[in-house]
Amino acid sequence: MAPGSRDEAVEAVRQRTDIVELIGRYVKLKKTGGNFVGLCPFHAEKTPSFTVSPRKGFFHCFGCKASGDVFSFLMKMEGKDFGEALETLAERAGVELPRRGPGDSRRRELQSRLFEINEWAAKFYEETLWGPAGQRGREALAERGVPEATARAFRLGYAPGGWHALADRLRQHGAAPEDVDTLGLVLRSERGPRDLFRERLVFPILGLDGRVRGFGARRLNPEDTGPKYINSRQSPVFDKGELFFGLPQARAAVQDSGTVVVVEGYFDVITPAGVGVSNLLATCGTALSEGHARLLRRLTDRVVTLYDADPAGLKGSLRAAEVLIAGEMAPYMVYLPQGEDPDSYVRKAGGQAFRDLLAAARPAVEVLAEVLLQGSGSDPEKRSQAMTKLVPVLAACRDPIRQGNYFRFLADRCQVDERFWRQAVAQAGGQSGAGPRTSPVAAPASRSEASAPHPEEETLVALVVRFPRLLTLPNAAEAVPLLAQPALADLMQRLGQKEQSQGALLASLQDEELRSRLAARLIDEAFVEDSAEEAFLDCLRKLKARRLSQELSRLEQSLREARQAGDKEAERRLLLEKLERSRERDSLGVALPRGRT
Ligand SMILES: [Zn+2]
Repeated sequence: MAPGSRDEAVEAVRQRTDIVELIGRYVKLKKTGGNFVGLCPFHAEKTPSFTVSPRKGFFHCFGCKASGDVFSFLMKMEGKDFGEALETLAERAGVELPRRGPGDSRRRELQSRLFEINEWAAKFYEETLWGPAGQRGREALAERGVPEATARAFRLGYAPGGWHALADRLRQHGAAPEDVDTLGLVLRSERGPRDLFRERLVFPILGLDGRVRGFGARRLNPEDTGPKYINSRQSPVFDKGELFFGLPQARAAVQDSGTVVVVEGYFDVITPAGVGVSNLLATCGTALSEGHARLLRRLTDRVVTLYDADPAGLKGSLRAAEVLIAGEMAPYMVYLPQGEDPDSYVRKAGGQAFRDLLAAARPAVEVLAEVLLQGSGSDPEKRSQAMTKLVPVLAACRDPIRQGNYFRFLADRCQVDERFWRQAVAQAGGQSGAGPRTSPVAAPASRSEASAPHPEEETLVALVVRFPRLLTLPNAAEAVPLLAQPALADLMQRLGQKEQSQGALLASLQDEELRSRLAARLIDEAFVEDSAEEAFLDCLRKLKARRLSQELSRLEQSLREARQAGDKEAERRLLLEKLERSRERDSLGVALPRGRT
């Protein structure tokens, strides 16, 4: 196929990709009616709620609400970005992609060169570890009881002594010096190139797709005065805040167990893997970030944190709980005996004890409260200090029901009234159940309206996406201005302009939750052509009634102001207008919920 516009190419790839065949390579699918169902690859489940619609070209999970088209499936499954997913599918479908803007293709070319150099470096370190120069590295692994197979699975390596062994290797491969500079694996000095890592055990950090993104390295020479651990530099392929060590190795175990365990250190991943516990990931020398939380949410919804049992580990656990709760996940936690880390614990207590420990994970808030209070004894000053540390964690929670449960639990556990917690959280600027801090009248209605789900709007748009002929109805044109969600109004407008596949329209929605809700409506087989028109007109009436109600409350407000100002003329005009709008609304015959006049 000759390259046209990028949009055309995307559409062509979409049409030529069989979504059932693509997803079928990862998920066992069974045909039911016009759809296929299987166990969701994005959350742990025992009965299938993952549905694929070949006709509509998308998937939707009724359990975790994941949804999308062939591109989003591959992105989610393989951790690719859109461009990468497009490239992969275009190749399979035999569609030639048009050349993109110069900036974009330059970035992509740079990234692929950097990946290549990282791969050369990783191979070099691996070869060195298992070759004659790698003895020190092998000894360090043997001391920790890491089996060779495990070390190889994580692609561990050894950076030899000397100054420029890696630099030489990369030059032999023909790596461009400026690309090597970008990765920071070789530094420039007056005496020539100098390897960043020397006499260190090397941990390659891979993306979900298995490509080498960066490296961490541990000092092995006791005379080395440098830091114990160093990382390679942040680069266009390496962002520590969005990567974990052990991602591709943990993937299958995370999927099987439905749980991911987050630890701090490389050996906290490797040592348990050596005894068969493989669903662990390590942050690469940084605190858990929002980027990490997003990535975790794509893997599973059960996250257990297992940090070192020392003050730094406790601080990290608090921060992790805060980030995960803010990311709308329910974090679990295990706290080790004082002074231990997962690596030391496994070596001392063995694999089964470690498994038991993980199985006993409890909600993070519960464990944190216990650990903090234990450390402060009965001293009231220390106790209040300890409790204050939990406030940011609670304030991160945006679900009032869950937050209320935390408050009740902590009131009981710490023997401090619930009100203390509500107040402290309110002062910290979080949401608390203590009541809204602004009056409900003054609250900006427009903001919450834009983000909250609008069932009628979404049903209406879903109907038109499925049955485009609805657009030819005489009052279809009234719909667009009635849509409060800009993304939906925009979608409707595009629907009227040119024909697009359902998958394409859906994929164009940025808001993941909105996309998911819409997909759920589209995949619902209960929608049939016969009743579509009636359902469409019903939604339209409800939206009109809502619009009129909003106008009426605005008029009411103006009327009050006119009365206060004694402006008789305005009052008369407003009353007339109000009467007219009320009649209009009543004529729609839509019952309105109380309080929304
Ligand atoms: Zn799911």
